[in-house]
Amino acid sequence: MTMAKITRAQLAGYLDDALGDAETTHVEQALRQSESLRDELRAMMQERDRGEHSLGAVWRRQRLSCPTRDQLGSYLLKILEAEQHDYIHFHLQTIGCSFCQANLADLEARQKEAAPKVHERRRRFFQSSAGLLQKGKKKK
Ligand SMILES: [Zn+2]
Repeated sequence: MTMAKITRAQLAGYLDDALGDAETTHVEQALRQSESLRDELRAMMQERDRGEHSLGAVWRRQRLSCPTRDQLGSYLLKILEAEQHDYIHFHLQTIGCSFCQANLADLEARQKEAAPKVHERRRRFFQSSAGLLQKGKKKK
């Protein structure tokens, strides 16, 4: 029988003593078997001790203000205002938001893949708009 993954919410419920007997037993079993889960629980208890100043609380606040995928793309291209760039840098590096890091890695991979195509598209765009400009002139 494989152990279902214990969620953060379940761990929180366990700490709050808010779980039913079966679930409590389930969490305790999982804790006995998993070192990383024990670490997670320990970290959660420390977070609670530190209250709102904890990294976890900061992370939760920041998580709500995750940059959009567009913003992350602009961050990669380094075309953001300094303030916004710093914020996203902080979000990724200091907060270490794994959600955004994964998003960024994905964007990075796509950009590398798409780079030659984008270049080609731009070249065509400029050529065609030059053509349009000439047509416009002829009409006048
Ligand atoms: Zn994020």
